[in-house]
Amino acid sequence: MTNILYDALFAPHAGRDAPFLHLPDGGIVTYADFLGQAAQIAHVLTQAGLAPGDRLAAQVPKCPQALALYAACVQAGVIFLPLNTGYTVEELRYFVENSGARMLVCDPDRAGALASLAHAADAVLHTLGADGTGTLMADAAGQPDGFDTVPRGRDDLAAFLYTSGTTGRSKGAMLSHDNLLSNAQALTDIWRFTKDDVLLHALPIFHTHGLFVATNTTLAAGGAMIFLPKFDTDRMIEAMPRATAMMGVPTFYTRLLDDARLTRDLTEHMRLFVSGSAPLLAETHERFEARTGHRILERYGMTETNMNTSNPYDGERRPGTVGFPLPGVELKITDPDTDAEVAPGEIGRIEVRGPNVFKGYWQMPEKTAAELRPDGFFITGDLGRLDEDGYVQIVGRDKDLIISGGYNVYPKEIEVVLDAQPGVLESAVIGVPHPDFGETPLALIVPQPGVTPDLDAIAAELRDALARYKHPRDMLIVDELPRNTMGKVQKNVLRETYRARFVPA
Ligand code: ATP
Ligand code: MG
Repeated sequence: MTNILYDALFAPHAGRDAPFLHLPDGGIVTYADFLGQAAQIAHVLTQAGLAPGDRLAAQVPKCPQALALYAACVQAGVIFLPLNTGYTVEELRYFVENSGARMLVCDPDRAGALASLAHAADAVLHTLGADGTGTLMADAAGQPDGFDTVPRGRDDLAAFLYTSGTTGRSKGAMLSHDNLLSNAQALTDIWRFTKDDVLLHALPIFHTHGLFVATNTTLAAGGAMIFLPKFDTDRMIEAMPRATAMMGVPTFYTRLLDDARLTRDLTEHMRLFVSGSAPLLAETHERFEARTGHRILERYGMTETNMNTSNPYDGERRPGTVGFPLPGVELKITDPDTDAEVAPGEIGRIEVRGPNVFKGYWQMPEKTAAELRPDGFFITGDLGRLDEDGYVQIVGRDKDLIISGGYNVYPKEIEVVLDAQPGVLESAVIGVPHPDFGETPLALIVPQPGVTPDLDAIAAELRDALARYKHPRDMLIVDELPRNTMGKVQKNVLRETYRARFVPA
């Protein structure tokens, strides 16, 4: 029997002398180095008693050895559980306990704080620092660099990925070998990745975006990555002439646009810029094209499903949309009351089905049953519609929907108008309590630096543009919007902050 993911993504590169990672200090990790190191780590895992199906929780810095740890888990049949490096000890306690992890790997700085937690959870504690130091690699160093790959089938689990927690507590999404492989193959195919590609990688590796979309696609094609510890404008600009492709979140693009060195010349060798994880403003799209000549390709995905849709590589990349379903993925827009598909152009729930859709939330059978239908469709929690040509548009999350006096108000409709007003940098609209209507929209506006937007003029524009029930009851100027590491606006944080102020008497 084979190991579905290992055999497809890793094994074909055994012994290859070609670069897999280019490091900021000029160093190179070849495929042969990388796989040798992964095999050594796989020995450490099995010697520590980890059996196929056991979980390994890793809160580790972004470094080549962290990717080798991922590869080692796949090879040893251990379920890899990457954790946000920003999580506190208390937050880690939840993930380690909730997942029943048998091993916890953390930064050496944290080992003291986590020792009792690991002990209480009966998990082996190992350390891995950004420079590759720590107990994990020290133990790995003496091991053979070959390992008998543990067989794993399509439905066996490869990873638990906790969702970003944008709408509440993070949930552990169970991802199978086939979930990850089918997506890697679909993306390699539609985005035309080859072994000649060099991907500029500045994303964290504890999310689906940096770990699976970026890394698995590179592995499937046998290309290389310029592996930066985090986004840094100077480093991105310095590295870009050596890259062919970049994957980023919208804030990467706005930060690059703030720098005058972003030009046509700088991006001449690039063949692809991808954006995802949060909505890309049409304005960013246009400015980027005007400056570089490249049209950003926007795609849509989530922890539970990997990638669902992508704008076309060759055809028209349409701003404000996330394109079409990937090969093998079905997407439909349904009415929340009747479950029936809505007509094109109408807003409804986005549901997806395909080999990319996860196996359920770990130890949350009720939530899994509520969102994953018996026929295989997953209710994503996002609202959207299809435009006249079938491009998918995301309208927001169903939890952010405001119901005012019985009418549905989609925050995005208001935000689009607000964002276009002079002096407005960005905006967020949330629902706040209202004595007559139940809820009403509240607009939070971040001004452009040094500008005071004219709120009366904006209110007049809103009156012209939108039906009365969509007019915000108030507009407040704020310095910034709360965001998580992937650049997503945390509306639950905004709701917590502002709802209390509007509680009806
Ligand atoms: P949680 O589920 O814990 O609340 P989360 O949904 O933010 O957190 P992720 O799985 O990281 O966790 O994010 C997926 C979500 O990101 C999608 O459901 C969608 O709302 C949003 N998203 C991803 N890509 C895009 C995009 N191109 N445009 C708009 N939204 C996007
Ligand atoms: Mg989600």
